[in-house]
Amino acid sequence: MRVLVLDDDEFMLEFITHLLRELGVSEVLVATDGRAGLFVLAAQVAEIDLLICDIEMPGMDGIEFLRNIADQGYCGKIALFSGVDEDLLKAVERMALVRKLNIIGSLTKPVTIGALAAVLQQLSSPRQSTPDPDKIQQVFDVEEIEKALMADQIDVYYQPKISALTGHVTGVECLARLRHAQYGHLTPDNFIPVIKCSGLINDFTSRVLRKSANQLNMWLRQALDLRISVKVSMENLDRFNLPEIYERTVRACNVPIERITLEMTEGKLGKDFAQTLDILTRLRLKGFGLAIDDFGTGYSSMETLKHMPFTEMKIDRAFAHGATNDVVTRAILESSIKLGRTLNLNVVVEGIETETDYHLAVELGCDEIQGFFVAKPMPADDFIKWYIAHESTNDKRF
Ligand code: C2E
Ligand code: MG
Repeated sequence: MRVLVLDDDEFMLEFITHLLRELGVSEVLVATDGRAGLFVLAAQVAEIDLLICDIEMPGMDGIEFLRNIADQGYCGKIALFSGVDEDLLKAVERMALVRKLNIIGSLTKPVTIGALAAVLQQLSSPRQSTPDPDKIQQVFDVEEIEKALMADQIDVYYQPKISALTGHVTGVECLARLRHAQYGHLTPDNFIPVIKCSGLINDFTSRVLRKSANQLNMWLRQALDLRISVKVSMENLDRFNLPEIYERTVRACNVPIERITLEMTEGKLGKDFAQTLDILTRLRLKGFGLAIDDFGTGYSSMETLKHMPFTEMKIDRAFAHGATNDVVTRAILESSIKLGRTLNLNVVVEGIETETDYHLAVELGCDEIQGFFVAKPMPADDFIKWYIAHESTNDKRF
């Protein structure tokens, strides 16, 4: 095993080298600041198994060093090392994660052999959250998207939501996919941003609503007691008769409006506050549920919540995943759930990826759970199979 340690303190380098050797590391490389670290890395022919990086160093500090190796596409494992306070260390960790570096842990000074052994242990375990290898980055232009709409290439995937109390499936979130001859089903980051600024958003949302409502109709006829959530973007709220348009669409599919929740995907209020309030209130009046999506991320989530007639709060996945080992994340999750409940909203926590996340969200009192731990978004055919399997084993699993 080969480890590279960056620290400006010669004594510390010697001490860590000694501990690493005790733990069976065969080769320890050292560097006294970021610049020296870059040289050592550039000179390597064989891979380095672990990079231990001090944050505070004169010359090129740890943050600059990490930025440099991130730019070079470094994908080896890294442990942060520091005497700075824990909050700052967490901030550096977040920065490194944003830059897609593979941070496997952090060590605080004074370092102990036990802490070092725990980090080395991590080397053999698989990376916790790997990016989806299928995720193709292919951004389309307006013309291609217009064609895709005309050719009916927008499909809907469904991601289940379950009751935190009983574990039973309560409904699904409807997520758009663009069916592409060459790439298969593409995720929305490839086409939604273009749709939003192209004037195609109304056509797009109506299609997704119609497809999802038709699907709901089929499920209801199969006696599946489900609700659906469909996304509506703020750009959709540009016409006063939107409630009538959506009502007509849903009625044509023969499903009760009360089973449909419209999720507002942005925290920010529309340009015209009075118009937004008018439209949302009339959508409620017609029986649609209204959810504030990605709660906690928009800078005006609280303000939006104060004015708009929401029935549901969806807490963003940024506060769901990892809340057990981050006090700040947990505090935001806990207080958001409390706030939602006080306001009598149906509180959904999305982005639940692990059993630990799941148990915490349930313990903190949310109403519904959504996330990869329950299931990923899937086509309707797969959903029905998943539903039957889930409901038949639910009592054992949850
Ligand atoms: P969103 O509103 O936050 O929707 C949830 C996204 O989080 C989905 O990605 C879903 O696959 C993902 N997700 C669910 N559970 C987990 C989890 O446990 N971990 C992680 N890491 N991710 C999870 P998707 O389908 O790629 O959608 C991305 C975004 O695209 C949505 O984010 C939404 O803002 C937008 N979008 C999707 N469909 C539509 C649509 O029909 N209309 C509009 N306006 N926007 C849409
Ligand atoms: Mg969301």
